[in-house]
Amino acid sequence: MDAFRYPLEQIRDKCDLVEIVSAHVALRRAGRAFVGLCPFHNEKTPSFHVNPERQIWKCFGCGEGGDVFKFVQKMDNLTFPQAVEQLAKNVGVTIERSERAAREYSDRERILRANNVACAFFRSELAGSEKAKDYLSKRGLSDDIIDRYKLGYAPDGWDGLANHLQQQRIEVADAVKAGLLVPRESSTGFYDRFRDRLIFPIVDPSERIIAFGGRSFGDEQPKYLNSPESALFAKNKTLYGLNIARKAIPGENRAIVVEGYMDVITAQSAGFTNTVATMGTALTEEHVTVISRFTTNVVLAFDSDSAGMQAALRGAPIFEQAGFAVRILSMPKGEDPDSLLRGGDVSRFTELLDRALPIPDYRIKLALSGHDLETDEGKTAALREAIDVLAEVDSAVERERLVRFLAKYHPNFSTGTTLAEDHIRGEVSRRKSRRARKGAAPAGRAATPDQQPAQAISPVQRWERLLLGIILFSRADASKVFDVLSPKEFTGEQTRALAEALSRQYSELGKIDQEDLRDRVADSPAEGLLLDLLMGLDENELNHPLDDVIQRVMADKSNQRQARLRELAPKISDGTIKGGDPEFDEYWRLAHESSFGPLGR
Ligand SMILES: [Zn+2]
Repeated sequence: MDAFRYPLEQIRDKCDLVEIVSAHVALRRAGRAFVGLCPFHNEKTPSFHVNPERQIWKCFGCGEGGDVFKFVQKMDNLTFPQAVEQLAKNVGVTIERSERAAREYSDRERILRANNVACAFFRSELAGSEKAKDYLSKRGLSDDIIDRYKLGYAPDGWDGLANHLQQQRIEVADAVKAGLLVPRESSTGFYDRFRDRLIFPIVDPSERIIAFGGRSFGDEQPKYLNSPESALFAKNKTLYGLNIARKAIPGENRAIVVEGYMDVITAQSAGFTNTVATMGTALTEEHVTVISRFTTNVVLAFDSDSAGMQAALRGAPIFEQAGFAVRILSMPKGEDPDSLLRGGDVSRFTELLDRALPIPDYRIKLALSGHDLETDEGKTAALREAIDVLAEVDSAVERERLVRFLAKYHPNFSTGTTLAEDHIRGEVSRRKSRRARKGAAPAGRAATPDQQPAQAISPVQRWERLLLGIILFSRADASKVFDVLSPKEFTGEQTRALAEALSRQYSELGKIDQEDLRDRVADSPAEGLLLDLLMGLDENELNHPLDDVIQRVMADKSNQRQARLRELAPKISDGTIKGGDPEFDEYWRLAHESSFGPLGR
């Protein structure tokens, strides 16, 4: 009902769609429109258009489109009234609210208000704390920088913030949802989550304070404490510093990813504005998707300790799989971006950026640095490790380049380059065929060393596989899943066959039994897939939220269907496909599913 009273026209007139979209998508002008990479589906060539005159947007890739309300609604995952409220507030239009509407004022707004009040509190506490000011100035942070990043201090004690929030009439429930207060376990009441910590507000691309990071001064653990997840804050897609970096990344056509808040602040302040950090979690596909809206070039500048190197080696392939050109910066021992740049000298960091290495080169460098290359034993051991890396490089050109580089470290190098190179090439191909055998069928079955590489799996099938894995390890109720997504609807031959076997087994036995299942699928298309899942799924993957997996299968299926429809539509209209052709029937079946089917939008 309240929606009818919203002054929609007035709000829409005051909003600049191009500006609002630009907070999330790098747009460039193309004639009278602006184009960029769609934030709602994965793409490499821009099909997302914004028309500034009509204040509408449309993606020709996934078909989404609408006005400014629709954009904010989808982008921030809001209901229509929430989107209207948010935009109205940003452009200063007051909305008369009924008592009921006021009560239902969204969680997000309430959390945001609590965060804003808390941020102001932390900032004024910083102004009064010699200890905190001292600490920041020792780390080279000027007052300007402190203001720019809204840095603050959470005082020692249990209820400094709690009392302040009460004075400011922030409801306790909201402060708890925001993660600022924590309910006491032993008695009633609440206490401050952040105590005696330096506070880094986490600001999203729309300049909203969505969470806080708190750093301890001494050795208190944890060194970094973040707000818990909330309606506003999802760790796996939040990047610290993106509100500033998003303006610089498209121009530089490169993002620098670092580990900590201080690294971001120091790097951005030294002029490397295209720097962001994950929120104390490992890099996720979601982080990569966020960055891919601005660039597909990335440099990972992680700490020089082994945790940092491991994090870089785990993160780099995620970028690579998303089509990024990835380089890893080799950080000198004991350094991080903050320590390198703190003195204000940008030349060393610039040089290290320029010398950042592709993934295999970086791994080889690590292998070489772990051994004493003055001795033949050291050289041989280093070579053995490096050859393992080489065996995993798919491109023959790349492999050849690295063979030539490695030959220098071969004990026979002095007697003949070709000999050393040939020896390395031989070792690499031996290693490669061993890997191929291992990756093929298990022992006892005919294993062909020169097997075709595994067939490419479409995104929807990747999620279908995970979904089946979750059922297979009894992490979800099979009947519930198959009620939503029937086995017939799985898109791959293998996944469909396994889904059918799982569903049949569940209805016959009332449970999933892995042994029994292996008998059931022997010699069927599902056999290989079942083995893959039994061997290859790890705990992390199995703990992926079920709802999310189902949703992704659905969304990817719908994308696939849309793509096929777009492919067939012109042929239907120009008469290449006529009634009676199988493709004609397919078109109408897909069209029907897409508007009425269980998966239709
Ligand atoms: Zn799209």
